[in-house]
Amino acid sequence: MAKASKKGKHRQRTERRYEPQAATNAWFTRILAAAGSIAMGAGVYSQIPSLRPEDAAPIAASPWLLGGGSVALAVALWFGTSGDAVIRVGDPGVGIDDGKTVRRIAWHAVASVSLGGGAVVVEGKDDEGKSLKIRASLKTQADAAGAIVHEARVRVPAVVGVPEDATTYIEGAGHAHAPEPLKVVGRACAASGKSITFEQDARVCGRCERVYHKASVPAECECGEALAASPAAATS
Ligand SMILES: [Zn+2]
Repeated sequence: MAKASKKGKHRQRTERRYEPQAATNAWFTRILAAAGSIAMGAGVYSQIPSLRPEDAAPIAASPWLLGGGSVALAVALWFGTSGDAVIRVGDPGVGIDDGKTVRRIAWHAVASVSLGGGAVVVEGKDDEGKSLKIRASLKTQADAAGAIVHEARVRVPAVVGVPEDATTYIEGAGHAHAPEPLKVVGRACAASGKSITFEQDARVCGRCERVYHKASVPAECECGEALAASPAAATS
């Protein structure tokens, strides 16, 4: 896919995934999960005759081990995930990943990045033009919250209303991830409104991911990024 970067070179899009962090003590969660798993394993082992020496009697406590183990594991998993989804931050914008689908707000579609209810809140429109609000808790998704504010300050500073010291950006936090390819066919050019029929006709702003038809690429994107003046220069 062609990418209208400053050098007019093909640039790989990147994104990072931020798993929710446990609100409770991480070690407590891990130990509880480990103890639960071991107890469950012991319970299962003692319940299956073929895993036992033939002359050994079933361990009387095994149903309790199995039951208690399951409860401990369930409690650990519940505390460990706290119900928050994975947040993705990168070139494609801010996304919320529930394990099945990813809904994103592209940077050019971000209306505001604010602080509210102990979270960084991103409001805007998803790829289908529907309103979307993504919250990154300062407690359980602090890394994601920091990354959102950091990226937004670089890409769309005008819409950021978060105090300087409210979040911390930790470079290298989260996991690098190749985002799903940007779909450009069928999109309307951000300058002319002309529908893009062929992928090779699209020029994409590397900062906000606005899509332009190659025939109407402005010198500067609406986000302020300088785009290649001549369409030919933007061809990868
Ligand atoms: Zn742009």
